[in-house]
Amino acid sequence: MSRRDVRMVAPTHTVFEGGGFQVRRPVAMGQLMSPFLLLDEMGPKKYGPGEAIGAPWHPHRGFETVTYMLDGEMNHEDSAGNSGLIAAGDVQWMTAGKGVIHSELPSDKMMKEGGLMHGFQIWVNLPAKDKMMPPRYQEISASSSPCVESDGVWARVIAGDCLGTSSMIDTVIPIVYIHAKFDASSKLIQAIEKGLNGMIYVFGGELEVGGKSVADGGLAILSDGEEVVLESKNGAECLILAGPELNEPIARYGPFVMNTREEISQAIDDYNNGRFA
Ligand code: MN
Repeated sequence: MSRRDVRMVAPTHTVFEGGGFQVRRPVAMGQLMSPFLLLDEMGPKKYGPGEAIGAPWHPHRGFETVTYMLDGEMNHEDSAGNSGLIAAGDVQWMTAGKGVIHSELPSDKMMKEGGLMHGFQIWVNLPAKDKMMPPRYQEISASSSPCVESDGVWARVIAGDCLGTSSMIDTVIPIVYIHAKFDASSKLIQAIEKGLNGMIYVFGGELEVGGKSVADGGLAILSDGEEVVLESKNGAECLILAGPELNEPIARYGPFVMNTREEISQAIDDYNNGRFA
């Protein structure tokens, strides 16, 4: 099996999104991150009563948003009438496709009592032929979500396979999305299909990725190969992400990600004229 190494490590910026909530975001690496458009670590941040903030009503078109909560609770609502709570360990895989208008706010309980908020939102691009697909949601609760544990490594398999356990999510393009937690002196050899762009986002601790040490907040972009060796001396957590290079032009304007400027103009026009869901 050919092993993947670290090509480069993208550092992280702290930015403020939506209504002003704090996220850690690796510096955009363009095509190196394809098909991922964005990787936001929300928090970890402890809010007092009445302090929690989120992202009020906004639209999306042309890609998928994947929300994974580690601590705290978000309330999701959209203009088509869907709503639900995303709590610790829950995953919401939302395919915006031709258009969704939604709000992502702390739950009433978080608002009232405050508490720790920590989670991830990643944006997965859609190929041109699927950008205008009907919106869909896949919600996997913490209790039904496939998890696996072996030799000091725990993993939640959001998309793809890890240690013989497969995800429940149906993805448009082949995606790997795994949350792995390492005890001290533990090791995982993770297969990532050759040809896919692979990357490891390290948070909480330091992780050896293909023999190279990656610090908290680093996004390691991997070389090609069939597997990657992840090892921790003192304990760490990471996201393992992979997907295909789409090789299509990207036209991006805020919450719309299409292939051409004309399609962006169309998205803005459709939104302004109430033609979204
Ligand atoms: Mn959103």
